[in-house]
Amino acid sequence: MIVAVASGKGGTGKTTVAASLAWVWDRPVTVVDLDVEEPNLHLFLKPDIVGRETAVMEVPVADESKCTYCRACADLCQFKAISVLGSVLLTFPEMCHGCGGCLAVCPEKALSPGTRELGEVSWGTASGRIGFFMGRLRVGEAMSPPLMRAVIAKLGQNREAAARDVIIDAPPGTSCPAINAVLPSNLILLVTEPTPFGFHDLKLAHAAFAPLGKPMAVVINRAGLGDRSVQDFCRSQQMAVLAEIPFDRSLAEAYSRGRVLADALPNMHNVFAQLMTALRGVAKTSRQGEVAAHA
Ligand code: SF4
Ligand code: SF4
Repeated sequence: MIVAVASGKGGTGKTTVAASLAWVWDRPVTVVDLDVEEPNLHLFLKPDIVGRETAVMEVPVADESKCTYCRACADLCQFKAISVLGSVLLTFPEMCHGCGGCLAVCPEKALSPGTRELGEVSWGTASGRIGFFMGRLRVGEAMSPPLMRAVIAKLGQNREAAARDVIIDAPPGTSCPAINAVLPSNLILLVTEPTPFGFHDLKLAHAAFAPLGKPMAVVINRAGLGDRSVQDFCRSQQMAVLAEIPFDRSLAEAYSRGRVLADALPNMHNVFAQLMTALRGVAKTSRQGEVAAHA
């Protein structure tokens, strides 16, 4: 089972939910922080990091002495990461998406593979039992999906960690990084809050993720604020609200101290244990639906 914890906007408590869910998970579990621009799951889970490596992607390096300025590479590149101006060949590694197309079409073998640093992948164990992987984007690096794929690839190389249930802490929003983060999952858990902003961004997240065809469910954080627009929307879209986390001072204090809510507060342990059970129910119902559809 792979659960992606996502949200239409930042600050809804997505990482808080991911950390507590991992804390109460009663089967072997690995958490993956794919919010690589601002990873902060480690601040709650405080993992022992046992390995780190620099992630890179392939970009072209030009040997202009071989170039005939035929423009084949520049015409192919959809990202304007390589240009030919008269008898000058320019490469822009920061704009390169690493497709390798320019290397393949160059008739003079004037381009060879080089690398651009994406950031760091690290891994370890939290609380002696929770597998932990995270990515941290290099300052100045504009593209996060290649580093996210490197984190997932690293997880895949660790057979023990990959064989476990996986909880992904996805980046907030509905753009390319958020879509990339939920793609490996078989269930998306949307965290929202009952405010006009939370409701607005929940609708955006639902619209962005629904075409992926994955089951979705919702956690309402800071429940008790606002009105019931979020619940009404979830009902209209047949998305189950699996947990409501109250707007409560004791939770805010635990959060401000970097505590995992399910560890700091016994009543929250129960809330997240019930959420875990409910998630398995959603996953099971979805699997049964798929089997029935293919029967
Ligand atoms: S590898 Fe792809 S994206 Fe990068 S410069 Fe070449 S064609 Fe453009
Ligand atoms: S395809 Fe090769 S030879 Fe042609 S302009 Fe690009 S680098 Fe130069």
